[in-house]
Amino acid sequence: MLLTITTTARPATDLGYLLVKHPERVQAFEQSFGTAHVFYPDASPDTCTAALLLDVDPIKLAKARKTPDLSLGQYVNDRPYAASSLLASAMANVFRTAMRGASRDRAELAATPIPLTITLPALPCRGGPDAARRLFEPLGWRVEARPVPLDPEFPQWGDSRYVTLTLEGELRLCDALNQVYVLLPVLDDAKHYWIASDEVDKLIRAGEGWLAAHPERGRITRRYLANRRGLVRTALARLADADDAPDDALDRDPIDEEPPPVDPTAAEPGDAEPERAAAVPPVPLAERRIQAVLDTLRAEGAHTVIDLGCGSGKLLSRLLQDPYFHFVTGTDVSPRAIMMAQRRLARLPRQQEERLNLFTGALTYADDRFHGHDAGVLMEVIEHVDVPRLPAVERVVFGDARLRVVVVTTPNAEYNVRYEELTGFRHPDHRFEWTRGEFREWAEKVARTYGYQVRYVPVGDEDGEVGPPTQMGVFIR
Ligand code: SAH
Repeated sequence: MLLTITTTARPATDLGYLLVKHPERVQAFEQSFGTAHVFYPDASPDTCTAALLLDVDPIKLAKARKTPDLSLGQYVNDRPYAASSLLASAMANVFRTAMRGASRDRAELAATPIPLTITLPALPCRGGPDAARRLFEPLGWRVEARPVPLDPEFPQWGDSRYVTLTLEGELRLCDALNQVYVLLPVLDDAKHYWIASDEVDKLIRAGEGWLAAHPERGRITRRYLANRRGLVRTALARLADADDAPDDALDRDPIDEEPPPVDPTAAEPGDAEPERAAAVPPVPLAERRIQAVLDTLRAEGAHTVIDLGCGSGKLLSRLLQDPYFHFVTGTDVSPRAIMMAQRRLARLPRQQEERLNLFTGALTYADDRFHGHDAGVLMEVIEHVDVPRLPAVERVVFGDARLRVVVVTTPNAEYNVRYEELTGFRHPDHRFEWTRGEFREWAEKVARTYGYQVRYVPVGDEDGEVGPPTQMGVFIR
């Protein structure tokens, strides 16, 4: 299977710097399912084409399965030719730096939209050429999707489920690669062969900057996750840390209908009528929460901030982008979260990185590194803490660190009735979700115990009956 990337941005051979693959060399990268080759069929100052050719090894693939499948179907299939999730996996391995938007030698070029043409000669395309257009056109691509006939000798047999896809546009290379990486498996109807263990995070990361506003983002997200589920169920179950998987998105067939919101922490685009599709999509709740926290920190004059339970660093990234915040610290008990935050923040310019300190730490144990910040943030963290351990967190954050300002956000359980089909908590890792009354009762007790004043701020659209989706408490010592 083959993917080619062409640019005409002069000197076009700089593509080699962006991909970190020398245009004059043919290189091979071993994958667990075969070998990925990178070479340049064309490399001149005016136009340069890089090719990723994936040579799938069906024996390796069959052996990699936990329960070996000895059927002929494992060996006789379209996998060697059809661009599938295997190609997406190979892209992620081979073009890792480029997909992060990083480039040691051409950082500016990596951050600049350049003319690009991407070709996939044989792309399995569920939904036909229209589906490819619906997914790529909103991202600014000119899309040519030509159906491949089943057999050119017998036109009466009609078209196969493959298209030859050509995308043309002016994009940053990292966006282009991330889009193809996510949308390949979305278009592919077949089973997926995922190698990595955390696809939700990968989707969010790869979708950064384009997926949230995509008119088809609900469908993309569900299909991306749904298709991979059967094969990685076991691997996922082994994952100790389940910080942000919208688990309820996985079970249904998302193709024919747009089901009601499945990820209650991110608002879905409402009506999908074509005329309305161009309207500004609603701001997702996660974004409104970040905004509310940032506004509060500014209003309280907090120039140095510690994000307690920072997860993958979404808030940290925003704090660093705002020079108002002189120094930013992030901590989390999960080393994987810290690693993800590191990766996310590695994309930032150096001056921003120098204002950051990131470390692994537990909020249940007093730690000097929690001291000395103008403000601390517990954004969607307390509900992940076992109730019996919550007093330890209170003691550490409010009692020991004695931060002047502490901002706490948590779901408002009353609002859950507004999420159709939601049974139980919004996230499988939540230990509790509180009503407004329960949150206030907790907050008042904490404030009394440790000498704080607390005020409450609704986050998200407030419902007359059940209140806002997120509740926020602002504690001032
Ligand atoms: N604040 C982030 C992440 C929320 S998810 C955001 O809003 O996007 C909750 C996070 O709290 C997880 O990353 C989890 O690892 C972390 N966490 C849970 N218990 C913790 C503890 N005792 N100490 C430190 N972090 C904790």
